[in-house]
Amino acid sequence: MRTKYVFVTGGVASSLGKGIVAASLAKLLQARGLRVTIQKFDPYLNIDPGTLNPYEHGECYVTEDGAETDLDLGHYERFLGVYTSKANNVTTGKIYNTVITKEREGAYLGKTVQIVPHITDEIKRRMLLLGKTGRFDVIITEVGGTVGDMESQPFVEAMRQLQWELPEEDFLSIHLTLIPYLRAAKELKTKPTQHSVQELQSLGVHPDIIVCRTEKSLTPELRRKIALFCNVKPGHVIQSIDAWSIYQVPLNLEQERLDQLVVNKLEIKGTHAPDLEALKSFLRRLRHPEKEVRIALVGKYVELQDAYKSILESFVHAGAANLCKVEVVSVSAEQVTADNAESLLGQMDGILVAPGFGERGQEGKICAVRFARESGIPFFGICLGMQMAVVEFARNVLGYADAATTEADPLTTHPVIDLMADQKTTTIKGGTMRLGAYRCHIAKGSLAYRIYGEEEISERHRHRYEFNNAYLEQIEAAGMKVSGCNPDTGLVEIVEIPSHPFFIGVQFHPELKSRPEHPNPIFDHFVKAAIARREARQ
Ligand code: GLN
Repeated sequence: MRTKYVFVTGGVASSLGKGIVAASLAKLLQARGLRVTIQKFDPYLNIDPGTLNPYEHGECYVTEDGAETDLDLGHYERFLGVYTSKANNVTTGKIYNTVITKEREGAYLGKTVQIVPHITDEIKRRMLLLGKTGRFDVIITEVGGTVGDMESQPFVEAMRQLQWELPEEDFLSIHLTLIPYLRAAKELKTKPTQHSVQELQSLGVHPDIIVCRTEKSLTPELRRKIALFCNVKPGHVIQSIDAWSIYQVPLNLEQERLDQLVVNKLEIKGTHAPDLEALKSFLRRLRHPEKEVRIALVGKYVELQDAYKSILESFVHAGAANLCKVEVVSVSAEQVTADNAESLLGQMDGILVAPGFGERGQEGKICAVRFARESGIPFFGICLGMQMAVVEFARNVLGYADAATTEADPLTTHPVIDLMADQKTTTIKGGTMRLGAYRCHIAKGSLAYRIYGEEEISERHRHRYEFNNAYLEQIEAAGMKVSGCNPDTGLVEIVEIPSHPFFIGVQFHPELKSRPEHPNPIFDHFVKAAIARREARQ
């Protein structure tokens, strides 16, 4: 089958959940037996979101091949259960970088280099790239930003060109808009959608399907009105109503026959009705929990939920697997002190110390680790959280009062977490990061082995600092064990305290590979440990 291309643009407002709609459509097509992937085109000038503050942009999602990408790629992977890669996230910065590098190399033979055709050609090349691999039947491209923004215009222009360059049955355009409900007038309003579609059409792109985000059901009359004013077929106006879980959205869109419209327009023959049994069974478990636990998420980006998106989703997955409602309580790391740790954390069934960069909040995280270690509350440290567990242990068990990571204190006399020698000479941000999938060898008989049930695993990384092996012997002798190491480099991946009911710290990011139908095993066991803790207290 020839590869088909679906484009998803958004209008009226940002944060409508374009990523979820794109991922849901992909899920439905995949459930029909098609090979699908999604890619995101972001209009900002950063080469990748790796250097963006999580406050502004939410979490940075890391792929197997070590690309730092938009958090929507996390949704794609969670919905589809397949890996994305570097090629699935393109930014304006990347496009310009390629074009300008080519210009410097003389590739344009003295021509004036312009947005049209040079920038748009590069955008189109990338839009079609994954299709050329022959690995996919359908490529869904989500165009970031809102139609009408100056920034996203070259992307929309590239789409306009492809609309004519690709065979008609290979191209489909979906526009996602918002139908606001005015409480005072008790009415759903279509005008913003009309304007948004007009804007898109004035750029030369004709939407085949309009997906309307709404909090109330759209009546047939309203759908007809939108179709009439927006120049689409009446059956091609579909609603995406507010859902109780993002994982319910594919089912809602299936009811609206979105996947059927798409396969019809793209002339895709021979697919079966979507098989969504696994998703439905996950949703049943999620909807009817029999137990409940409270987990503290100690981090410094607590104001913005998106900053810990994959961690929160991992708790949704692990909760459903255990028929347990996991209430995640955000605790601002900067607020935790030795004096208030008990009152802030004492009622929790588990304590997770989050990843992070920079010194701010580290002392609070160390206090949270100490409280978890001493009180026997299940503890799970991720990346910086694991590093803080090592620092806490070195300070309060080994008695090295100034033990630290050199990220926070470059002059410490006990750098238990440090840069590796070969990293110290590189200055470019990002240049020294350990990114993407690395193998980890797990020691038999450890908690990690009970959790994963195998000796060799692979998880994704995104960090610069490492456990300093010069302290390995002393730390182990005092009761903290290294239960996971990278077999190629000997770098420490997992630490644990066997005398504690559940204490584990991991240098990697297990949250990135958790899926609704396959929760990450550490999250799964952490939730189990939290349930046990709560039951023991009752
Ligand atoms: N800042 C730490 C490092 O660079 C941890 C990073 C993280 O938590 N992702 O090693």
